[in-house]
Amino acid sequence: MFTKILIANRGEIACRVAATARRMGVKTVAVYSEADVDARHVALCDESVPVGPSAARESYLRADKIIAAALATGAQAVHPGYGFLSENAGFAQACADAGISFIGPPASAIDAMGSKSAAKTLMEKAGVPLVPGYHGEEQDPDFLQAEADRIGYPVLLKASAGGGGKGMRIVESSEDLKAALASCKREATSSFGDDKVLIEKYLTRPRHIEIQVFADSQGNCVYLFERDCSVQRRHQKVLEEAPAPGMTEERRRAMGEAAVAAARAVGYVGAGTVEFIANQDGSFYFMEMNTRLQVEHPVTEMITGQDLVEWQLRVASGEALPLRQDQLRINGHALEARIYAENPDNNFLPSIGRLRHLRMPEAVSFSLGDNPAHPAAVRIDSGVRAGDAISPFYDPMIAKLIVWGCDREEALAQMASALSHYQVVGLMSNIAFLKRLVESPPFAGADLDTGLIERNQDVLFPAPQPAGFDVLALAAVALVLSEPRYVASGAGDPWARADGWRMNMPLRRRFHFIDHASPLDVAVSYRSQGWLIEQGAAAAQASVVRHDGSDYAIRLDGRLVRGTVVIDGEDVHVFTGERHALLRYIDPLLHAGEAEDEGGRLTAPMPGKIVAILVSKDEAVLKGAPLLIMEAMKMEHTIAAPRDGVVQELLYATGDQVEEGVQLLSFQA
Ligand code: ADP
Ligand code: ADP
Ligand code: MG
Repeated sequence: MFTKILIANRGEIACRVAATARRMGVKTVAVYSEADVDARHVALCDESVPVGPSAARESYLRADKIIAAALATGAQAVHPGYGFLSENAGFAQACADAGISFIGPPASAIDAMGSKSAAKTLMEKAGVPLVPGYHGEEQDPDFLQAEADRIGYPVLLKASAGGGGKGMRIVESSEDLKAALASCKREATSSFGDDKVLIEKYLTRPRHIEIQVFADSQGNCVYLFERDCSVQRRHQKVLEEAPAPGMTEERRRAMGEAAVAAARAVGYVGAGTVEFIANQDGSFYFMEMNTRLQVEHPVTEMITGQDLVEWQLRVASGEALPLRQDQLRINGHALEARIYAENPDNNFLPSIGRLRHLRMPEAVSFSLGDNPAHPAAVRIDSGVRAGDAISPFYDPMIAKLIVWGCDREEALAQMASALSHYQVVGLMSNIAFLKRLVESPPFAGADLDTGLIERNQDVLFPAPQPAGFDVLALAAVALVLSEPRYVASGAGDPWARADGWRMNMPLRRRFHFIDHASPLDVAVSYRSQGWLIEQGAAAAQASVVRHDGSDYAIRLDGRLVRGTVVIDGEDVHVFTGERHALLRYIDPLLHAGEAEDEGGRLTAPMPGKIVAILVSKDEAVLKGAPLLIMEAMKMEHTIAAPRDGVVQELLYATGDQVEEGVQLLSFQA
């Protein structure tokens, strides 16, 4: 076994590899870019070496710097993780040339599978079933048109050198082919430097089912069963599970044996994944082979009780596979959800920012010394800590949440519960979306295919729910208790006191919130018998039962309501387990000051668009009341009343684009 390895990656996969190495007594060397100086993976490794600027192509993709770092630190092997250099045959070869073990397949196997077209030709020879299509050398547009016509529409164009869902085009009819071909080739050239394409019959309602294979250098090759990765957005996996619902023993064996045949055909060594596309009737076709450890490998670890990174290290150091095919078993069911920094409501656009608040569900968090061979109910593979930034330089995946249950139903319940306890503030995440997905009837009922998200828009993207009284009450309580006079007074909890203690607290406080563009007022009043919270027609007597950091338990008319409230500038995040509500709090002092500086004129702070007008002409408003909301630089800005007064004239309408500094409305104090 190696005594020291270098991990040529970052984020959760680098942390995950470090965990296994630590358990096996193997020392680790991290590499890091400028953006990652303080990253979690650097802290977890025994040594670390800087490899350049933040841009991946100047650091994590620099084979020369990584090999130099391995040589300088005396690492005997390099683990490439996934992405970056993991499927780069040149890098695998350069490691070998430098006398360093590449923890992955031989360069020749990466090469053989690197081109989807060439791989298909090989697979055809090995007797592995292929999707009807064309994967030859000829690239003349008229020829490809004729091939597509022969295959029959719809067809799928793929970049032969492609990956990560890039460059794919669905073509519905013959007339659309030429235009799609041109745009596919453009994207293939810019993303992969190779414009070669292949054509496949586009299957309707297919499932993505892949087989984990493992081979050693002594001629053994096994499959560790399947993963179902049908739930995708933009051809990218979102949820993965093992085993695949509805899989029969017979089909499992057929797919497993086809995958082993595929691996053997290219002289494979190490961990690999053979991806199949399957029809609803179970028939399946080879799609591609990923010659690396896959993002979703933990679900396989959970159901087999095997640590695949340990297997990788053993195989790379020359040992035989730890188990034979007949010693491998499936135990229970596992699900993985990829937690992304992205906005599902805006076409899953990545979101960057700092994790100002991060709380993960109670988990046997996969950290140093843990062994995935003991299935934990909840496992989290994470590359970040609270306070860390998600930068624009790398993949927006924050972490992976993996759960295990005796069966699918138990795993689903674990996942829903774990997602409810996953709190992120500081950037957009897909957590709430994942929860809706996991609980949606088609996913819960295992009615799986790659179009599941597209087809269930109404369930997965519901209209925003209004905050509701409990959420507003929690927000108001948190705002009162976070005021400096309470924090500094050390006088204890004012809510619990019945003696009329209220320091400088006015008898009645009014909080202005905006909930999805609707203004809401919450009043908090001191009464001799306690506190009264009012919102619209609803009211409740309130007392604080517990207040610990950002966690609150309050009693509302005798009902216990718990939640976490994170106040982030003017954003108030309320997590109740059931949901994550985001309210905008209009701080009257803050806004009054701004407006007064401008001499009472209510002007646009920057160029942008009017997204909501919250008042009407001649309406009387109180100081601090929200008047309108602008959107600029992807952020919302609320314009509030500088003092008590009357709206005289609205100068723009919702949807209008305005220049910086223009007057938005006139207002009479
Ligand atoms: P597939 O390639 O079939 O989508 P995976 O879901 O396992 O298989 O891999 C996700 C893809 O996203 C990989 O091909 C990898 O190139 C890319 N990727 C994911 N995370 C990262 C990361 N942290 N750094 C670089 N690339 C990444
Ligand atoms: P990548 O290299 O980007 O992972 P793949 O060839 O693995 O590309 O395909 C990615 C996804 O695209 C699949 O998981 C599936 O959802 C969809 N897909 C690929 N081929 C087909 C096909 N012939 N018919 C329908 N969907 C397909
Ligand atoms: Mg793929």
